[in-house]
Amino acid sequence: MKIKRLAHIGIAVKDIQEVAKVYTELLPLQLTDTEPVGELRTGFIPVGETNLELVMSTTPEGTMSKFIAKRGEGVHHLAFEVDDLDAAVAELKAKGVPLTAEEPWRGAHGARVMFIHPKATHGVLIELCEYPEGH
Ligand code: ZN
Repeated sequence: MKIKRLAHIGIAVKDIQEVAKVYTELLPLQLTDTEPVGELRTGFIPVGETNLELVMSTTPEGTMSKFIAKRGEGVHHLAFEVDDLDAAVAELKAKGVPLTAEEPWRGAHGARVMFIHPKATHGVLIELCEYPEGH
């Protein structure tokens, strides 16, 4: 497996526009785009080589709504960009590492994504993502 970079830090939020003010008004950063991903909505704030990914649920029963109800808003996951997601997933499965799904799925910015279960990482939810050519 080859890790190219820390692609983003995912932050669970109740409202992207509200939370983005922290980064655009207290810090000199910009919210560049927001995108629906299933029941979620994501907002990206570039920071050098990496990004902050603000993630909110669009329904009260959504993934982020449940996470926030239990743990509050805050850091949710780290996303590492890999060169070959299928190879990375195969490598982790061969090692018996628990993943949160059987097969990769489509995330924001056209990425294919997979998550390593936090029980295997001392509590940190780790996303592996692969971007389409030229992104
Ligand atoms: Zn993410």
